[in-house]
Amino acid sequence: MENIFVYRDRDILVDADGNFFKACKVSDFEKGKDGVEEIFIEKATGYIGVLVNSEWNIPQGAQFSPLRGYFFEHNADDTRLASRMRGLVQWRRSMQFCPACGSPLVSYDKETALQCTGCGKVHYPRIEPCIITLVKKGDEILLLRTLREKEGIYSCLSGFVEIGETIEQAVKREVKEESNLEVENVRYVGSQSWPFPDQLMLAFYCDYKSGELKIQESEIKDAQWFRKDDLPKLYGKGSIAWRLINDDFSL
Ligand SMILES: [Zn+2]
Repeated sequence: MENIFVYRDRDILVDADGNFFKACKVSDFEKGKDGVEEIFIEKATGYIGVLVNSEWNIPQGAQFSPLRGYFFEHNADDTRLASRMRGLVQWRRSMQFCPACGSPLVSYDKETALQCTGCGKVHYPRIEPCIITLVKKGDEILLLRTLREKEGIYSCLSGFVEIGETIEQAVKREVKEESNLEVENVRYVGSQSWPFPDQLMLAFYCDYKSGELKIQESEIKDAQWFRKDDLPKLYGKGSIAWRLINDDFSL
């Protein structure tokens, strides 16, 4: 059996039971043909990630299912693998040429990386740290709805960590930018890989310190203090926002 993970956009190929579809062979795939966009073979493990588009013919007994749902329904090992291979094949897709000299990149023999055929530089996969935080004030929590979110779902505040700052500083800055509030007692509680394409979500609690709630209108549609017995529509169980709101970090 070959461990081939097939992805289409944000979906993963699964069998009738919702587990990853195991019947594909590496010989089924040729890059640039029949909807196959990219293939990444991780030499250390033998696992293979394949990126296809809508032209690819789905094998009998298989279907595409949202990777996000897959994460929430499978154990930590399966989730890690599905997330890892998706991240790696997506990374390979976006890294065709050396950022330093522009020559083509090929697989690197010694590690999970790519090597430049021109200058020889080795390029490793990267992850982007992001923070997500739940601001608490007494028995109320701050939730917001972004402009991008079309289904009325509220979530925690989040954003990318900037070069030069600590993750705790990133939490305080993002809260200030999005809500105009000052917070304190920033405390780390857990993390989640989010390979769309390459994020690592770092989750924090923090406490309201001062300031008047005022949203960043370029990104945020609404922000409100909510009581836990009167919550708005939220992302599903297993999402890191849900875990923060429900204090579910007992892994
Ligand atoms: Zn190069």
